[in-house]
Amino acid sequence: MTTKQAPSTLQKMGLDSPMALALHLPARYEDETELLTIEGAIQQGRFSTVQTQGIVIRNQVLFRPRRQMVVTIEDKTETLNLRFLNFYPSQQKQMAVGVNIRVRGDVREGFQGPEMVHPTVRAVTPDAPLPSSLTPVYPASAGVSQAVIRKAVFQALRDPSLQESLVEFLPNKLFAELLPSHDWPNLQAAITYLHQPPADANTQSLFERTHPAWRRVQFEELLAQQISLKRALAIRRERHAPSIIKDKGRSRDKKRQEESFEEGLLKALPFKLTKAQERVCLEISNDLSKSFPMNRLLQGDVGSGKTVIAALAAARVMDHGYQAAIMAPTEILAEQHYLKMKEWFEPLGVQIAWLSGSLKAKNKKLAQEVIESGQAQLIVGTHALIQENVSFAKLGLAVIDEQHRFGVRQRLEMQQRVGSELFYCHQLMMTATPIPRTLAMTYYADLEVSIIDALPPGRKPISTKVVKASRREEVISGLQSWLSRGLQAYWVCPLIEESEAIQLQTAVDSFEQLRQALPEFKMGLVHGRLKADEKAAVMAAFKANEIQLLVATTVIEVGVDVPNATLMVIEHAERFGYAQIHQLRGRVGRGSADSVCILMYAEPLSVAAKERLQTLRETSDGFVIAERDLSLRGPGELLGAKQSGDAMLRFVDLQRDAWLIELAQQAAERLLKDHTALVERHLERWLGSRAEFLKA
Ligand code: ADP
Ligand code: MG
Repeated sequence: MTTKQAPSTLQKMGLDSPMALALHLPARYEDETELLTIEGAIQQGRFSTVQTQGIVIRNQVLFRPRRQMVVTIEDKTETLNLRFLNFYPSQQKQMAVGVNIRVRGDVREGFQGPEMVHPTVRAVTPDAPLPSSLTPVYPASAGVSQAVIRKAVFQALRDPSLQESLVEFLPNKLFAELLPSHDWPNLQAAITYLHQPPADANTQSLFERTHPAWRRVQFEELLAQQISLKRALAIRRERHAPSIIKDKGRSRDKKRQEESFEEGLLKALPFKLTKAQERVCLEISNDLSKSFPMNRLLQGDVGSGKTVIAALAAARVMDHGYQAAIMAPTEILAEQHYLKMKEWFEPLGVQIAWLSGSLKAKNKKLAQEVIESGQAQLIVGTHALIQENVSFAKLGLAVIDEQHRFGVRQRLEMQQRVGSELFYCHQLMMTATPIPRTLAMTYYADLEVSIIDALPPGRKPISTKVVKASRREEVISGLQSWLSRGLQAYWVCPLIEESEAIQLQTAVDSFEQLRQALPEFKMGLVHGRLKADEKAAVMAAFKANEIQLLVATTVIEVGVDVPNATLMVIEHAERFGYAQIHQLRGRVGRGSADSVCILMYAEPLSVAAKERLQTLRETSDGFVIAERDLSLRGPGELLGAKQSGDAMLRFVDLQRDAWLIELAQQAAERLLKDHTALVERHLERWLGSRAEFLKA
């Protein structure tokens, strides 16, 4: 019966080959190897789960206080009650008087003496043998029984094809050198052990996944991951990108212009670069001088000044006659960049093109033409830059801002496009989300990381206040006096995930209410439904201080830069995540004036939301906030690549097993150098089709 049904349900869980089944390792174990007398079980069962057996001497269905079944078993030593608050008629039959049953559970003191509530029950002959290994409990989806999985796994472990694919091919010598003090079993032994650990196994280390057998498997997994990342790096190094060396090879342009774009921009900036910014510029400069594509991630907290770094890199590339592109995940953010680049580069005579999905066909075509002819030196836009049929005349640098906010699919597309021969160029990715070192090592081995670790000088910390929604009137009158001082403010409306329409409605409602309450000020409203040019018009007016209060949905979340806007009110702050509020709040505190962020919340507040708001009030340190976020959501989601992260590391916990990563890195290097033939087999074994996702 099960044989017919099992394959499809197992296949749905991805368990479609002996190898997949072998790698479906237990989540935990149950110890059914020991059988206590009932007397012994009553004693020990108060501290741990125990197994015992006896003959059923009574089976009663009671109706008070509620319907339940109480079964009493007996052996030579004692009697024990088993209580079932839910039960099927089949269970009544299974536990009929006179049957010998084996039960497993915890013992507690009931009204009628010691009892087990909902033990696991098996009807067996009194002398039925005990298993000699611990019983594995497998991760399962609903509707698949442990018995079905166990049977399939044990069958797979005996499959001759599996023996072959698990054959140890990592050279012993390599292990001996890398892991002198680790007495790890070979892979096949490790996997067999994990499925069928002997009765005397160290259950704690099995449970905590620190047992040598687990280590062996974790190491294999990390090795596969590191190999594929390193291979991506090797492939990148084989590729060609223009080597751009400062002040070299600029002769042709020099005749045309006295001053380079880079010098011109530096001179025109109203501020001096911070030390951190200068360091990052040097790192980028070094990468650009190489003849293979740069692949650098620039990490810097909200407001740390990443844009100017991108602009300087672009200037360098343009000085050498190449095009530079800047891409952002949303229209608003891309537009901000476009305006900023116009402000900085147009006076220097740079031709700038704008390309987004929402451009009218005619304008899009025009933009594509100037990009293709090379007339446009700097191109700013959304990911339309890679999606639409755009070909660049001579692209030297692609900057991808807020990289993690692009979806996994978009990032894959970008990788494929930017990595394709048409498109080889230097790449600079930027993000405000700090990535812990262990994560960077495992997800991004093929990535150089630069960090801006200090904010520009003169910034005043943003003071954050947490306020109940019932004090809305007070907040509005505070807003009034703020605006009266000539300052500007944001009013951010709640995120409503279920419905964009409702989200829009609440924004419109708030806008109307504020307009009535504060008629003396000019207000604007931006939301996702506005057309690009309408949005741009409102943003431009806000920037020019023609609008004092900007009511917005979360479309302003990233990158908007208006230094005179120093107050932000966030409605229903309890609905936002850590990163979102941190990003939003980063819109204020950009100038030298005191800035305030008011987090309004509606009750009731969940424990998690309360803690979140409290943390956000106490700190504005992006690293602290990211860490809280990480412990809450797990690494994959933080990087916006849940799928890839989860699929990649099934047995490794980045926090617990950080030290293994380094070992795996070293082993990967050695294998790639000395044992190239093994590399393919190893990857095939571990990653199969998942390898592609790694690159996103
Ligand atoms: P983010 O890193 O969040 O993208 P931006 O690049 O938008 O930050 O910079 C935030 C603000 O800081 C901008 O107004 C920018 O002009 C300003 N800024 C950048 N670098 C400096 C600096 N070295 N000194 C003073 N202000 C700076
Ligand atoms: Mg930015």
